[in-house]
Amino acid sequence: MAAGLKAGQVTEVVAITENGYEVGCCNAKMRRSVKPATAKTVLTVQAGAFTAVQPSGSPTIEKLDIPADSKGVSFGGYEPAEAKDVDLTKAEVIVSAGRGVGKKDNIPVIAELARALGGELGASRPVVDSGWVEHSHQVGTTGQTVSPKLYVACGISGAIQHLAGMKKSDFVVAINKDKDAPIGEVADVLVVADVMQFVPALTAALQK
Ligand SMILES: Cc1cc2nc3c(=O)[nH]c(=O)nc-3n(C[C@H](O)[C@H](O)[C@H](O)COP(=O)(O)OP(=O)(O)OC[C@H]3O[C@@H](n4cnc5c(N)ncnc54)[C@H](O)[C@@H]3O)c2cc1C
Repeated sequence: MAAGLKAGQVTEVVAITENGYEVGCCNAKMRRSVKPATAKTVLTVQAGAFTAVQPSGSPTIEKLDIPADSKGVSFGGYEPAEAKDVDLTKAEVIVSAGRGVGKKDNIPVIAELARALGGELGASRPVVDSGWVEHSHQVGTTGQTVSPKLYVACGISGAIQHLAGMKKSDFVVAINKDKDAPIGEVADVLVVADVMQFVPALTAALQK
């Protein structure tokens, strides 16, 4: 599209400032600003990086009749996108499992807390890479960027690539046995405890 419009193209935009479009770089450890020199720019934004604003009024819908075979374009078919089992970008509560949960068999304990809070299960990358949880649940630069009202990080250290995906959460609770874990820097509440002791107790209290 950008080539057709003779426009610049910037992908995965995470913020728009007067200096240009901000995108991640250096494995998402840093951001850089991009200011295309072209008159037009085609942007794609990182999923979840911007909070959707409720539209006001009713937009005008203009139907364009473009013959499919014009300009060498023909209709090749339609394939619906593979349905994801979860869309974390829309979740108001996310309870995420990190490597600190220890093993795959412990994931249901974290999922149970997510259910008790009416939320969804999230995960850090090692948990996904180990095959404990599907990739659609991964939060972070190579997963989803989320902004729930409540984010509960269970046994997650707070690596920059994970924080990039969840630091816009309204309220962050972290459960970690290490009181100096970097997640503490973004957490509103840091519970210093063994996650496999604390989480079942919290879930039981919520279910009472
Ligand atoms: C290009 C690139 C992209 C990446 N993308 C992502 C991404 O999208 N998402 C992502 O998450 N990571 C991503 N990573 C990986 C990231 O750098 C970290 O390695 C990862 O986030 C660490 O996951 P973790 O916090 O679960 O594990 P760890 O860093 O191993 O942390 C485990 C934490 O659990 C605590 N803990 C251990 N046992 C217990 C217990 N019994 N009770 C309570 N706490 C306990 C520990 O104190 C520790 O803080 C990426 C890395 C790169 C290079």
